[in-house]
Amino acid sequence: MKWMNKLEELLNIPSPTGDTEEAIAFVEKEFKTLKVPTERTNKGALLATIEGESDEAITFSAHVDTLGLMVKEIKSNGRLRLSKVGGFSWISVEGEYVTISTLDGKEYTGTVLSTKASTHIFSDETNNMKRDDDNMEVRIDEKVESKEDVEKLGIRVGDFCYLDPRAELTESGFVKSRHLDDKAAVIILLQLAEKIKKSGKPKKTINFLISNYEEVGHGATARIPENTRVFFAVDMANPGPGQESSEYSVTIAAKDSSGPYDLGLRKELVALAEKHKISYKTDIYNYYGSDASAALRAGHDIRAALVGPGVDASHSMERTHKDAIDETVKLLVAYVEV
Ligand SMILES: [Zn+2]
Repeated sequence: MKWMNKLEELLNIPSPTGDTEEAIAFVEKEFKTLKVPTERTNKGALLATIEGESDEAITFSAHVDTLGLMVKEIKSNGRLRLSKVGGFSWISVEGEYVTISTLDGKEYTGTVLSTKASTHIFSDETNNMKRDDDNMEVRIDEKVESKEDVEKLGIRVGDFCYLDPRAELTESGFVKSRHLDDKAAVIILLQLAEKIKKSGKPKKTINFLISNYEEVGHGATARIPENTRVFFAVDMANPGPGQESSEYSVTIAAKDSSGPYDLGLRKELVALAEKHKISYKTDIYNYYGSDASAALRAGHDIRAALVGPGVDASHSMERTHKDAIDETVKLLVAYVEV
């Protein structure tokens, strides 16, 4: 339960891409507790290293940044027009509570609504309108009726709006939240670090890269330790029609929109999963790119894999089960021990 509670704690720290300092500091403290030394990159990511017997390294990455919103325009009626941070559909955030964070540290609450939210006023139009950047807005919970009223609160263009994470653990072992992508994997890497520390010096050096710009595509493009031979993006898998991924298993991705992952590495992972009776799936994603894809595109000479727990309804109201988290930890531990 300890790590599920830590996951809930992390989910409740707002960290949209571009505003991740507090979440990075949380993970840094957890590595410190495990006595794993860390350093910050210029870009604000976190690198943690457990020295092994050989200098050759395996690098595991997970991203702490999430989807979010930014104030695009303060409208003359006191509402806020928004700009999306990361890729998601407006429908998935309609009605969501947000916290607006100003440059001078003030916070205000609000709600994401369409410009035609009341069915008593707009009737069928409410249902039929397409949701887009122009007709979605934030209603601020303050007495504001003009642009000037809003500016007096200290709210400016560029302020982040944090989506309510809605984190919840259920008796049946599920964890629900908007931001399981990829905070579930950050907690998986902390568990992996804990297990490695307990079993003594690993054969190979193990690096952990907690990246902070994955949702916009350039997370793990920089500061991958030079001795890295093998790179794992630990990120969510997507269950759904026509997919193999499951909320109760670890998925070893064969391919995504960035192309195939390293075949030799996939064979090794499948063999390890079979040997250790780990519940695993193999899957392909048509609309997906990982931090491993980003690292490859940036020109790193690495063997890359993408593995992770199945997360239902990704970039919407996400959910996974403790089983998927546990199976992912088991597979990564098995790989490190080889
Ligand atoms: Zn992700």
